[in-house]
Amino acid sequence: MNNDDLVKGNRQFIQQTRDQNPDFFNQLKEGQQPHTFLLACCDSRVDPSVITKMPLGSLFVHRNIANQASEEDTSFTASLTYALKHLKVKQIVINGHTGCGGIAAAWKGIEDPELQGWVGEIRKHLPNPKENPDLTPEALSRINVLKQMEQLKKHPVYLQYGAGVDIIGYLFHLESGELEKL
Ligand SMILES: [Zn+2]
Repeated sequence: MNNDDLVKGNRQFIQQTRDQNPDFFNQLKEGQQPHTFLLACCDSRVDPSVITKMPLGSLFVHRNIANQASEEDTSFTASLTYALKHLKVKQIVINGHTGCGGIAAAWKGIEDPELQGWVGEIRKHLPNPKENPDLTPEALSRINVLKQMEQLKKHPVYLQYGAGVDIIGYLFHLESGELEKL
């Protein structure tokens, strides 16, 4: 893997896209009307467009480690505001996944000082490890999505602009590729 692979892949993407629809890029430059705002983890195995086969222009995506919907996160709040107020998306998806390193770090603790702040945010909404030692990584991923759905429902931007916009949680199973609705 090197930079040339990215350029080579991009050339193939252009070629295949034009073969399917010669007018595609003319349409793309006209603007976006995504139906869904999607919050996903940064994990390289969980690319939302790839795992759902959604075409360009259909998902407005925000990603952070362990898909956190925090109202204190100005980047997430900006994405949510733009999606609801200006793009007027029809639904919001929180897309968690099994085998999440961010959740494992929050559960077990982590040394890196640079990660402490964010990992502490993830931990806030997980059960107490001492009181729940038997929870599996998959159960924690599930709990994390459900908690973030609750967080989103309370987010001031959602309260102001989210009337009629459904919030849906999914768990992507790395071991099978299945996207499970929660
Ligand atoms: Zn993750």
